Amino acid sequence: MSRSIGAATRVYALLGDPVAHSRSPDLMNAAFAEHGIDAVYVALRCAEADVPTLVRTIAHAGGGGNITVPHKARARTAIDRPSEAVVRTGACNTFWAKDGLVHGDNTDVEGIHVATSALIGSARGIRVLLLGAGGAARAAAWAMVEAGAARVDILNRTPHRAAQLVHGLGTARLRVAHQIGSADLLINATTLGLRPHDRLPIREQLLPHFGAVLDLVYHPDETPLVRAAREAGVPAMDGTLMLLAQGAAAYRCWTGREAPLETMRAALGVDRSDALGGRAAAGVERD
Ligand code: NAP
Repeated sequence: MSRSIGAATRVYALLGDPVAHSRSPDLMNAAFAEHGIDAVYVALRCAEADVPTLVRTIAHAGGGGNITVPHKARARTAIDRPSEAVVRTGACNTFWAKDGLVHGDNTDVEGIHVATSALIGSARGIRVLLLGAGGAARAAAWAMVEAGAARVDILNRTPHRAAQLVHGLGTARLRVAHQIGSADLLINATTLGLRPHDRLPIREQLLPHFGAVLDLVYHPDETPLVRAAREAGVPAMDGTLMLLAQGAAAYRCWTGREAPLETMRAALGVDRSDALGGRAAAGVERD
């Protein structure tokens, strides 16, 4: 891909710390190039205190971007027009400017909807065990409430953060869990699995207690949790489809256009069946 960067080129940025591992620049630059949009997407490692200034400056300069770990809550404070997903989750992962105001969305919520639909179909009436209470867990909890889950139990290493999440979303369908029970769907929204020698977020012997497993961690190969779940005969999917779907939703916010999904998939190096969890979850593809 060759294109020139000039005075009219708009800047889109991923703000977070760390950002070096991110696939978002591959994903977004491929999409801009496919549509002939004069824009460039870069990853900027930055301190939390700099996030509001960066968000507002980049947006008012005609660009936009994404926010990742651990700055999504701080980014929310820089937004004039938050979407309902931002208000509900208290976290912003996408920003841009329109009519002089900075807009923000949390497209992780849409990413979770797309991934869970592909993995299990409808979430209406199901029981969910959600591991973690950070930004991604908030998006997952709200997405499951929106999708009509009957109950979402939240288990976190630091219990008071799980309590804060439940309190913040304010629905009786969310509860703090203190131990692992059975559920129709297990969602891993902890960072366990990001590093090569991480332990599994739950003991392997407990995996058959779940109808399906969604690991928000993504990896070029299977994540350790996805591999263990599939070995236990449980349909499982990693965070690749969520990554694509949240990126496609962000792209729509910035450009008003549907994202070129095939191009974005190719940029990630996943084929269509992989992106739908097809590496070993045969039979769960829905569309
Ligand atoms: P975060 O806000 O930093 O939250 C991290 C969570 O992991 C917290 O609940 C934390 O527990 C828990 N945790 C960290 N180390 C742990 C350990 N050793 N044992 C048990 N729990 C541990 O991060 P986030 O933004 O929510 O991201 C969480 C994961 O989701 C990351 O792996 C991220 O890559 C993934 N994600 C994927 C996508 C996608 O598109 N696929 C999008 C967003 C996020 P404490 O509260 O006790 O610290």
